[in-house]
Amino acid sequence: MKQRKALNRFGPVTTKWIETRHAWIQANATKTGTWTCYLRIAPNCPGTLTTETLTLDHIKSRSRNPELRFEMSNLAPCCAPCNERKGSRDLLEI
Ligand SMILES: [Zn+2]
Repeated sequence: MKQRKALNRFGPVTTKWIETRHAWIQANATKTGTWTCYLRIAPNCPGTLTTETLTLDHIKSRSRNPELRFEMSNLAPCCAPCNERKGSRDLLEI
């Protein structure tokens, strides 16, 4: 009950994103509980991601493909530095 309330502090898009991220983690669970950053383009990329450091990158940018924003197949495990470096570009533009 308390958690619901915490979620509702965010807007509906953020709440849906938190739920999508959670669903992605469940659907892409690994034996080790970690993932590998799929970009590896930032010099300080840690390579291995935990649930704390995992971010999900939109392979096709969400700015140009808003309909893919919550599409699981458009999401890939990514560290924060690489995600930031990629910015709003599509993967093919890197
Ligand atoms: Zn990375």
